[in-house]
Amino acid sequence: MRHDPLDYLSRELDALKQQGLYRHLRILEGEQSHKTTFDHRLVVNLSSNNYLGLTTHPKLREAALEATRRLGVGTGSVRSIAGTMDIHMELERRLATFKKTEAVVVFQSGFAANAGTVAAVLSKEDVVISDELNHASIIDGARLSRATIKVFPHKDADAARKILQDLPSGQRKLLITDGVFSMDGDLGALPALCALAEEYGCIMMVDDAHASGVFGANGRGTVDHFGVHGRVDIQVGTLSKAIGALGGYVAGSKALVEFLYHRARPFLFSTSHPPATAAACIAAVDVLEQEPEIIDRLWDNTRFFKAGLKMLGFNTGLSESPITPVIAGDGALAMTLSDRLFQEGVFAQGIAFPTVARDKARVRTIVTATHTKDELQFALDVFGKVGKELGLV
Ligand SMILES: *Cc1c(COP(=O)(O)O)cnc(C)c1O
Repeated sequence: MRHDPLDYLSRELDALKQQGLYRHLRILEGEQSHKTTFDHRLVVNLSSNNYLGLTTHPKLREAALEATRRLGVGTGSVRSIAGTMDIHMELERRLATFKKTEAVVVFQSGFAANAGTVAAVLSKEDVVISDELNHASIIDGARLSRATIKVFPHKDADAARKILQDLPSGQRKLLITDGVFSMDGDLGALPALCALAEEYGCIMMVDDAHASGVFGANGRGTVDHFGVHGRVDIQVGTLSKAIGALGGYVAGSKALVEFLYHRARPFLFSTSHPPATAAACIAAVDVLEQEPEIIDRLWDNTRFFKAGLKMLGFNTGLSESPITPVIAGDGALAMTLSDRLFQEGVFAQGIAFPTVARDKARVRTIVTATHTKDELQFALDVFGKVGKELGLV
């Protein structure tokens, strides 16, 4: 018998099982929505990023079907060869108007937008100054760029300043933060970082994946929320979370976007969105512009649920967004909490190292605009019951 050169992978999986960190994928049997069936169990779903319920919005569904009938299911090429349809250009124009920037380029995902952009705009003589909790796609982009990576403690603009003070003034620098941090739900120190970027001549970049459709007027993002229009050179957004479909985009100057058309590797080397996806995203922009009351419902539900968790006595960290972590500490305990919640009809995914620090394991909850108050109250009751059982409250 041939020796399996991958057998070390099974040993690593066994180690995960021993630590209580081995996970089965939960299987969704139906639509992504606020109350739905995973693994044969009907649950209140607090695990998706479908903030506004747009995954199943009739306007998006219809737009995708119409585009499929008219244009087919695929594009057959990367954007830079034969895969740019007029519907891609229309989406980019709509997003640029929405974001109030000169131009937008759409990528296949938020991950591709971040990694592709950071890697394209920097080279190995340059420096990235990055919040320690920035998303993996930023970190990967920075590594691919071969620039020097300097990490500052979470949201600590003074520490970022100390890093900048020690760098030669002629060196190219990218200062980068998440707009909303995906595991803690707190906001990046945008105004302070914009000021620093101006003082030290840095390129300023924000990853607004969790802010797109959630923060700012009509969901324009944290740049709008903080009133720092014109002070952020590169804004990344996602079309995969609140926007309900799939994709990512970069909003900025015309020169930035044209440069990325020529140099961003996911743009050049990976096939473009199917027409259905582009059409659904255009319809989502219509919804954000025409039905902003959906965003009000999201925030109303967010306030209700956060207040309930606090009242029960859970450690919910410093969240300022619809993402509310319930911090358990130990990884295995967080997984047990998630499993017990699920048995009782509430799906809140457990998250442990390496996604968060070893002693900060948690279940992460995300409410949406489409949850009813009854569903959220039910979830709070279950949290109370299971939290007591596990000694968390
Ligand atoms: C989800 C996420 C991304 C990636 O977006 P996708 O469209 O899912 O690829 C990037 N950055 C942050 C902060 C995210 O939370």
